[in-house]
Amino acid sequence: MTLDNLLKTLHTAKCRMTSQRRTIIDVLLANENTLLSADHLLKLCQQKNPDINTTTVYRNLELLDALKLMYTVNIDRNTMGYKLVCHDYHHHHMICLICGKMEAIEYCPISPDLIDQATARGFSITNHNLELYGYCHTCHTDLL
Ligand SMILES: [Zn+2]
Ligand SMILES: [Zn+2]
Repeated sequence: MTLDNLLKTLHTAKCRMTSQRRTIIDVLLANENTLLSADHLLKLCQQKNPDINTTTVYRNLELLDALKLMYTVNIDRNTMGYKLVCHDYHHHHMICLICGKMEAIEYCPISPDLIDQATARGFSITNHNLELYGYCHTCHTDLL
């Protein structure tokens, strides 16, 4: 995701660019390979603009999500992680539980058998997620 693409999408959707919105977008772009919790995102934004509050962050996350620009996934049972979408083609992720770094894996293990079983039961599949959780190389080395 580039700043250009983001600005174009927002412009097409007729969304006003405020300085707070721009700060949130800048922080998301600077962390495009890291899942941020809303709290962490808020802290990073407030370092650049102390006026940004939780409501602003959530409102913008909702907007970006509605424009299909956000990728959200549970970091743990109680915390959602947010990042900008990376590739526009189908892929999966490895997620580090310590630093939140995400790497794309360009392989999909969903088999035709699995899809057949679901459709045979009248289930219409629209999407699926598969995330691998663990420790990235840097964090794993730190653990040793
Ligand atoms: Zn890590
Ligand atoms: Zn897949």
